[in-house]
Amino acid sequence: MVIMSGKTKPALKLDGQAAALKTIERLEEVHSDAKIALNYTNPLQLLIATMLSAQTTDKTVNAVTKTLFEKYKTAEDFANAHLKELERSIKSTGFYHNKAKNVKNSCQMLVKKFGGRVPRTMEEILELPGVARKTANIVLANAYGIVAGIAVDTHVRRVSKRLGLTDNLNPDKIEKDLMDTVPKKEWMRITDLLIFHGRRICTAKHPKCAECVLNDFCPSAFTFD
Ligand code: SF4
Repeated sequence: MVIMSGKTKPALKLDGQAAALKTIERLEEVHSDAKIALNYTNPLQLLIATMLSAQTTDKTVNAVTKTLFEKYKTAEDFANAHLKELERSIKSTGFYHNKAKNVKNSCQMLVKKFGGRVPRTMEEILELPGVARKTANIVLANAYGIVAGIAVDTHVRRVSKRLGLTDNLNPDKIEKDLMDTVPKKEWMRITDLLIFHGRRICTAKHPKCAECVLNDFCPSAFTFD
């Protein structure tokens, strides 16, 4: 239970690892259902869905992949896709020219270099065109259970900054700050929890600080009105 003692000053002063651990403990109480919301049945589908999820909602991606994954089943199918047709199929996810090109080119590399399979190391996944650490972390952790880092999406970036877990804006630097602060066994969990908290409570505009279970130690609590 969180008790607020003031409107602007956090009651608790927690820094670094203590703040990170308290964040995980508290968020687990309210977002125990936090988990990846993209639909997939294999590593390739997760890779494609994550690539499509940039700048859109998981709901939109799931609506698109429902039919997309019936049409294209293997990396070879995507590698040989007609680009314009692929663009039409994914258009509602936005930025579809780039996304279609990256999906096709990545799958061509999967076929040529990795036997049609999604590789299992950060280094190899980062070779795929248009794939950065966020996507690589999501795929490695959720498809293979390999935790190599912390996926920094827009919610993780915003919430960790507000909580004072990072001062950086660059996703790779934010990831490094979080990896230095959060114990490795919690890297995957804190990602899901921060994403859910960012969607439900610590929203970009008008965060619901009064309802937030972190408001007694968050340095940004009640600073938005
Ligand atoms: S909702 Fe408010 S109190 Fe909660 S983490 Fe976001 S800024 Fe901090």
